[in-house]
Amino acid sequence: MKGGENIEIKKALIRISESLDDLIEPQYIIIHHTEEIGWNVYDTNDYHISLGWEGIGYNYFIEEDGTVFEGRGMKIGAHTRGMNKISIGICLSGNFDIGFPRQEQLISLKKLCTFFMKKYNISIKRVIGHREVENSKKSCPGTNFDMEQFRKSLI
Ligand SMILES: [Zn+2]
Repeated sequence: MKGGENIEIKKALIRISESLDDLIEPQYIIIHHTEEIGWNVYDTNDYHISLGWEGIGYNYFIEEDGTVFEGRGMKIGAHTRGMNKISIGICLSGNFDIGFPRQEQLISLKKLCTFFMKKYNISIKRVIGHREVENSKKSCPGTNFDMEQFRKSLI
């Protein structure tokens, strides 16, 4: 296996409902930021539960130090209106309207994207930021997150 062979995905100590449907053939990878500074996978999970959701809405989560956690994994997520059944949502901890993603986070994100692109035959142009989804009114994953530059890094 090439690319992503050294990606370590940790299991968070959170319970994801078995009744959620499987995400079978994702066609997109959608990148997000938490917007809240300093939130880890557990803070984000707690917040999403407080909204009445089935636990964390993101499929994968990247901490400030680059550690990758499984959120919903390959169960259908809750992160992008109209796209959840066809996309893998990856969230980076931080607010990139204010700050910038850390190098460790970008390295992990690149590995994770490369891994899923190969596994599910997803093209580079389908690796998008939340704000690039039609009708999105968000800046997510933050105005300082350069999606064009990130896509170029995947070539
Ligand atoms: Zn988002």
